[in-house]
Amino acid sequence: MAKLEILCLPRDEAALRQKSLPVTSITPDIKALMGDLLETLRTSERPGVGLAAPQIGKNVRMIVLESEGWKNDKEELVGVIPLKILLNPEVIKVSEEKDERFEGCLSVPAYNGYVTRPKKIKVTALDENGNEILIKASGFLARVLQHEIDHLDGILFIDHIKNKKKLLNALEETNGHEAE
Ligand code: ZN
Repeated sequence: MAKLEILCLPRDEAALRQKSLPVTSITPDIKALMGDLLETLRTSERPGVGLAAPQIGKNVRMIVLESEGWKNDKEELVGVIPLKILLNPEVIKVSEEKDERFEGCLSVPAYNGYVTRPKKIKVTALDENGNEILIKASGFLARVLQHEIDHLDGILFIDHIKNKKKLLNALEETNGHEAE
């Protein structure tokens, strides 16, 4: 496993905007990429809960998710996601019900913002051994899955924020500077 550089806006916009290609078989290269992606997520300076292969410059439809969670104001552990390595993940169903939550991205260091997404989804994928799986997700997991799967099509969370004023406000909060 190796830690690789995470591509970031604005420098790596062209690479991050590419559409990634499906995994056709679990080759040694694909296995090595799983390790690199996981290592890069786990050792990132900014804490992250998911990473997609195009974020480390590999246009392959692979994502990793992992979160140890955190305590909410009631001292309850929330936001826990056991390690998931998914190949060719695809959202096959979304709920009409949506919610708006705060998001950030390891590839978009300057911005955070509130993104509206479907609350519940169904995702098909292959696991790290190439077995077909179906994931029914809601809440935090549904959000992280949608964010990471978007990366495979060159879509970033900032694209979902129609009201760019919200994005600017997030920048002010993050950096303490006035934005024009
Ligand atoms: Zn991201």
